Amino acid sequence: MKVLVLNSGSSSIKFQLFRNDDWTVLASGSVTRIGEPEALMRCRWADAEGTQQSLEDCAAIPDHQQGLQRIAEALAQTGALADTAELLAVGHRVVHGGEAFHAPTLVDDDIIEVIRQVIPLAPLHNPANLDGILVARKLFPTIPQVAVFDTAFHQTMPRTAYRYAIPDFLYREHGVRRYGFHGTSHHYVGRRAAQLLGKPFEHCNLITLHLGNGASATAIREGSSVDTSMGMTPLEGLVMGTRSGDIDPAVPFYLSKHLGLDNDTLEGLLNRQSGLLGLCGDNDLREIQRRAEAGDEAAELALGVTAHRLKKYIGAYLAELGRTDALVFTGGIGENSAELRARACAGLETLGIRIDAAANTAASQQERAVSHAESPIQVLVIPTNEELQIAREAVEAVS
Ligand code: ADP
Repeated sequence: MKVLVLNSGSSSIKFQLFRNDDWTVLASGSVTRIGEPEALMRCRWADAEGTQQSLEDCAAIPDHQQGLQRIAEALAQTGALADTAELLAVGHRVVHGGEAFHAPTLVDDDIIEVIRQVIPLAPLHNPANLDGILVARKLFPTIPQVAVFDTAFHQTMPRTAYRYAIPDFLYREHGVRRYGFHGTSHHYVGRRAAQLLGKPFEHCNLITLHLGNGASATAIREGSSVDTSMGMTPLEGLVMGTRSGDIDPAVPFYLSKHLGLDNDTLEGLLNRQSGLLGLCGDNDLREIQRRAEAGDEAAELALGVTAHRLKKYIGAYLAELGRTDALVFTGGIGENSAELRARACAGLETLGIRIDAAANTAASQQERAVSHAESPIQVLVIPTNEELQIAREAVEAVS
């Protein structure tokens, strides 16, 4: 049987089709620019001889329903999914599950209603995620649809980690608390780390760092998330591509009072004009590293602030966990930037973290240890695979 994983954004649908016995990727791709005059459809797959093939076409795709229809046609055309009856499940990435969802969930009318109720907590993401579920139910009415939530893995956090010190009614009546995101990725690399360490996940204490355009750190105790750096929204925590991460909550009041900035402007400022971009005008870490190496001060500062914040979270989570088995780097930056890994871990030797310079800088796309053989805490680089985790969780939810 096969599993289709869908990640629906406001103007795009990304997909991967897996065979569920050995988790081979049969096809993957995306429809982007939905609603624009020329939407782009991309699909890659392996033909009968195992040779990689790809197709790309441009045509108007007015909405998500037609986007998914186009994906289904492409999968049929390539032979990757000749008949939709071969599907065991469709797994959907849903960004926010609020407090309602602790695990992947089989979608029915009631579940759709609950996902709808959570929209105010993630107004930019959940409507598109829900749209993807609704059109998939229409297009594949007999196939189980499973919602996999970015927040679900963090639902094990204790109250002391997820509550903010603000008036109680704001939590009770309005759901203001830490939820955390990137849960699928933290869960996936956590499990892989446990396999590399040769221990059951349930016995592992880990600090996982998902560093991409969005970035978050998670403390995992005995296989469960006990703290994470993103909060009620993905704005809190680490320095990100265009998001500020932690900031004095009084800064927006100050800007509102003294510069007359309104809410929407402030939201845009902290979400889309801050982080690496705000500090140095670039949000591509490769470019920032090139500039810093050439002596550019703003780029050097951006790297320095990012590494400083990372180190602060690593230290906090070492203190929270007590015993830690491994520090795990993932995401575009975590997997590829030896520079940021080295900066974040520099000086942590007395806390048990010792990087091996040669292993850290060796070019590799594989799962690997980059710590010194005698480092008490292992430092691992593990490429994330959120789609695979969603596919596995979708299958677990239907079995
Ligand atoms: P997203 O959160 O959008 O999925 P990614 O996980 O793809 O983002 O990460 C994007 C970031 O990874 C960018 O800042 C990019 O510069 C950085 N990155 C990708 N490859 C490298 C590399 N070889 N060295 C340093 N940074 C890299």
